[in-house]
Amino acid sequence: MSNYGGIAVSLEKPQVYAVKNKDEKIVADSRSGGIFTTISDAIFDERGVVYGSVLNEHYMAEHIRAEDIETRNLMRGSKYIQSKMGDTYSNVKRDLADGRKVLFSGTSCQVAGLKKYLGKEYDNLICIDILCHGVPSPRVWKKYLEWQEKRAKSKVNKVNFRNKTDFGWRAHVESLWLDNGKTIHSQVYRNLFFTNACLRPCCYECKYKGIIHPGDITIGDYWKIEKAAPEFDDNKGVSLVLINNEKGAALFEQIKENITFKQTRIEDSMQPALVKASSPLIDRTHFWNDFYNKKFDYIARKYGEYGCINKIKKKLKRLKNKIKRR
Ligand SMILES: Cc1cc2nc3c(=O)[nH]c(=O)nc-3n(C[C@H](O)[C@H](O)[C@H](O)COP(=O)(O)OP(=O)(O)OC[C@H]3O[C@@H](n4cnc5c(N)ncnc54)[C@H](O)[C@@H]3O)c2cc1C
Ligand code: SF4
Repeated sequence: MSNYGGIAVSLEKPQVYAVKNKDEKIVADSRSGGIFTTISDAIFDERGVVYGSVLNEHYMAEHIRAEDIETRNLMRGSKYIQSKMGDTYSNVKRDLADGRKVLFSGTSCQVAGLKKYLGKEYDNLICIDILCHGVPSPRVWKKYLEWQEKRAKSKVNKVNFRNKTDFGWRAHVESLWLDNGKTIHSQVYRNLFFTNACLRPCCYECKYKGIIHPGDITIGDYWKIEKAAPEFDDNKGVSLVLINNEKGAALFEQIKENITFKQTRIEDSMQPALVKASSPLIDRTHFWNDFYNKKFDYIARKYGEYGCINKIKKKLKRLKNKIKRR
């Protein structure tokens, strides 16, 4: 047991916090409560480097290295596709060998993969892993974008996988901004994501379900906030933060003055991503057969709840539930 600023840290169980960045603009620009920005700012204060996922010019996710705030800011926001690692692991190793402080952020399996690649502990490495439902195949995202562009007869010039600004933190609506000045708000990709059929096969056997994670700090959306710390629940975004070891605790101590936080209980903070690996909710083989052999419009209607018939079905379901509740 160690003591950090009066907080006893048991290394067998993570310390749990509800966290918000004190700057509302940062919370608005981040997926949850903006903890990633606060932590990476602390790394930059020590002339460190930050690795994380950004969208490239084709709107595909890939990991890059940042030495400045502008580049780091591109890492904000969840990209619900597998992020390509490229030569990230070897670049991290080189920075560590050069004595730079390094922050690596990614899914739990990416953090575990980095640690395996490095083969030894480095005092100057901090790892953040994100709570993870699973990552969809980039192929599905690519086809989806092409489909939306074709329908709109215009090119996409900006995307947001989960538009918090217009719909709030809890909602899950993807927004696409087009060259013709129009914006598409849709849930078709979200619906495909949540069939779980397009996740990478390794996600069905994910080893990182449970409260023990490979990062020094684990971050996620605080979905049970209304129970764990209702005073933080404003639908603008709250980060769930798990401090997994002494290194994580020391860093958390360092950033405390830049955040609003409350220590909470893991028992009040459980969500599916902490409990068990996702499994396909529909026949996966069927899905991929259709994906390769049919037009995307068919995929969107059959699996993405797109189209009039799906809209009517949804309305009827809502009405039925309303009547049932009376
Ligand atoms: C595919 C995926 C599934 C997720 N599932 C859940 C879930 O089930 N439950 C939950 O509570 N939280 C989930 N999250 C995590 C959550 O959405 C936020 O990433 C986290 O709360 C960080 O919040 P922040 O406010 O600090 O955000 P931001 O500043 O927006 O943080 C962004 C961080 O996410 C990383 N990141 C973004 N996209 C990817 C990607 N594709 N691959 C690897 N790293 C990425 C960036 O490198 C950066 O470190 C998921 C994220 C992703 C990418
Ligand atoms: S669900 Fe598990 S295996 Fe899949 S990306 Fe997330 S951490 Fe990796």
